[in-house]
Amino acid sequence: MYVLSKSSLEKMKNVHPKLVDVIKTAIENSSYDFRITAGARTAEEQNYLYQQGRTRAGQRVTNCDGYKAKSNHQIKSDGFGHAVDIFPCGVYENGVYRKFTTDEGYDDKKLKSIANHILAIAKSKNANVEWGGNWKMHDTPHFELK
Ligand SMILES: [Zn+2]
Repeated sequence: MYVLSKSSLEKMKNVHPKLVDVIKTAIENSSYDFRITAGARTAEEQNYLYQQGRTRAGQRVTNCDGYKAKSNHQIKSDGFGHAVDIFPCGVYENGVYRKFTTDEGYDDKKLKSIANHILAIAKSKNANVEWGGNWKMHDTPHFELK
């Protein structure tokens, strides 16, 4: 029912093909439409995020500085990033597409529903995918390949 936008596909350019395959299958029968907000990052890009809430204004979003502590979004020795972040962006209601606001989209219930779907597809494809929502440091938009 849903398709990944060009920008979502672009964001997954340097993400491991196994994870990309899971996401591409998952979007088709997902309970909600979603888009990719982050894929692979360089160490510099990771460090830029790390500085948010530290040397730059804003809320802290990561404990990985990109160098000493690496994120799974960073390109690994196999040449790929192993993580994506998603945003539930809309839904068909009685045949009419309704776009979510940021608050509506970043709702743990919606993310959990999509996560259950993504994890089931990963299992069927023998891909070891983990959901950040199952971590102690709750990161519900985050999925990564182990
Ligand atoms: Zn992430």
